[in-house]
Amino acid sequence: MKIICIGRNYAQHAKELGNEIPSEPVIFLKPETALIPKGHPFYYPAHSEDVHYEVELVVRIERVGKHIEEKFAPRYYSSIGLGIDFTARDIQQECKAKGLPWEKAKAWDHSAPLGEEFISVDELKGVSDIPFNLKLNGEIVQQGNSSEMLFSIDRIIQEVSKYFTLKIGDLIYTGTPSGVGPIAVGDELVGQIGDKEMFRFTVK
Ligand code: MG
Repeated sequence: MKIICIGRNYAQHAKELGNEIPSEPVIFLKPETALIPKGHPFYYPAHSEDVHYEVELVVRIERVGKHIEEKFAPRYYSSIGLGIDFTARDIQQECKAKGLPWEKAKAWDHSAPLGEEFISVDELKGVSDIPFNLKLNGEIVQQGNSSEMLFSIDRIIQEVSKYFTLKIGDLIYTGTPSGVGPIAVGDELVGQIGDKEMFRFTVK
């Protein structure tokens, strides 16, 4: 399986990092090893001194498809989860400055923690109004809603499936709202969709 990530999908977040509002989705990949095996802790990686959290709604693909039209995209998923697109911001700035790819900043082992539970689209009453947030040591640091996405979940599926065959079990991290920031060893991160806790872990 693969993890497809969307960058700059919320205007306020694009601005906070000094990026332009994109006219088409910014797409990058993480390998399967970016997930954390069940029961494993998250360790602060040795290769960075400025790891940032980015909480994101996650779509799990349930059907094989290529060149999927936006209007047919809802047939390819039925539930939504919540994860973090951890980013080594120091390495990313270096990559951006040199015009290099982002993998060293984005795709390292365990850089994509994911809550175990997914919520059905029926229960969410569709995917156009999904509120979610991230708490760092008990305080809300990021708050978003799928209604604020520059590119909707269905549009994202149309765009990414132009390039990649989507397979069962693939995950799409749909971009982060504003409020990103650094983590430190000992920090506790809690992610929620609405009032429902989707993940909770401490940085080791
Ligand atoms: Mg992100």
